[in-house]
Amino acid sequence: MNFTTEAAFAKKMDAHDELAAFRRRFVIAEPDLIYLDGNSLGRQPQGSIPLLQEIISAQWGSRLIRGWNEGWMALPEQIGGKIARLLGADADEVIIADSTSVNLFKLALAAVQAQPDRHKIITDDLNFPSDLYILQGVARLVARPLHIQVIPSPDGIHGPVDALAAAIDADTALVTLSHTVFKSAYTYDLTAVTQLAHRSGALMLWDMSHSAGSVPIDLHQANADLAVGCTYKYLNGGPGSPAFLYIRRDQQARLGNPITGWMGQQHMFDFALTYERDPGLRHFLTGTPPILSIAAIEPGIDLLLEAGMASLRAKSVQQTEYLIYLYEQWLEPQGFRLNSPREATWRGSHVSLGHKDGWRIDQALIQDMHVIPDFRQPDNIRLGIAPLYTSYYDIYEAMRRLRLVMDRRLYEKYEEGTTAVT
Ligand SMILES: *Cc1c(COP(=O)(O)O)cnc(C)c1O
Repeated sequence: MNFTTEAAFAKKMDAHDELAAFRRRFVIAEPDLIYLDGNSLGRQPQGSIPLLQEIISAQWGSRLIRGWNEGWMALPEQIGGKIARLLGADADEVIIADSTSVNLFKLALAAVQAQPDRHKIITDDLNFPSDLYILQGVARLVARPLHIQVIPSPDGIHGPVDALAAAIDADTALVTLSHTVFKSAYTYDLTAVTQLAHRSGALMLWDMSHSAGSVPIDLHQANADLAVGCTYKYLNGGPGSPAFLYIRRDQQARLGNPITGWMGQQHMFDFALTYERDPGLRHFLTGTPPILSIAAIEPGIDLLLEAGMASLRAKSVQQTEYLIYLYEQWLEPQGFRLNSPREATWRGSHVSLGHKDGWRIDQALIQDMHVIPDFRQPDNIRLGIAPLYTSYYDIYEAMRRLRLVMDRRLYEKYEEGTTAVT
């Protein structure tokens, strides 16, 4: 593709974009706002509004407790089964529960408990900090010494694949990584890295938070054992929407949920006094599921399934390439660095640009230019592309406004600092 720096180019790309019509299926409250943060909180699907109104009035309001037997109870499996289609898994291998952090805890502890003779968990320093905190908590809980080995990335951008291969050994219980890493968007080869873990008999646990809904995933082809992920990023499930977890069918009997609660009990309404787990994946549930939040996940999943991950990935690659092209033309000469892989194969759906004044530039973009990116320490301006609703013109405008921030030195009036959510 030969890109140009003209606005007309972006408009032409939008005019020929087969997925362009999906943008109208989302709430666009401020037409002038360029939203490049769908990798932190996806836009609201239009369909979520009547659906939630229906559930609130016709189900919660009218049916009250009867709603549990009229569909609510099955919702974690039903929505999980739909997400499974985005992950290359079967419906009975994915369930909605808790948050990503909690699911990671349950799966990591279960994996470690199932292999009492192994003493290592291996991860990398590109992983999301919460994932590392969770692993540290897991290590404190088990009776035996458990070492967490954090393999450093060679450059802060690419995954340390060779060093991982060297570190994984017969003492490794679990390898856990973010499939697409949160800062650079580096995306691991699922199959190749899963094979590295299996070669030494370790289990492989993937965090799909930044890849689900942005990158085609085939957990079966990769033979991955375990996965977790968010539904409020590229799946557009709403703020704090519950997470998913995946356990390959042949691992489901072997692994036990460490937080044993009544929702995972085999015959829960017998109210027996001793826990006996449900034979299916439901035993990875703990307490009562949040029905309104789970229901809100479905419209976003339906849109992704309708568009198809292959088309979405093709558009995402084209759009991140276009963004990087504009960066090379306009911003590289102004002291910006590309903090994401240059090669599309290794890149998810966001692009990180580094600049020594990154935080202040980010502030000027938000407050003066009506562009919402996000910021990740120490210097990353993260530009998230959600091909369901990000247009080429959005990208053109964001980069043009970013260039204006630099040309007019608008960032100079902002102080170094941090706000709570960026
Ligand atoms: C966003 C994200 C999370 C978030 O976890 P929560 O429990 O929902 O707060 C976890 N892991 C990764 C890799 C993420 O990108």
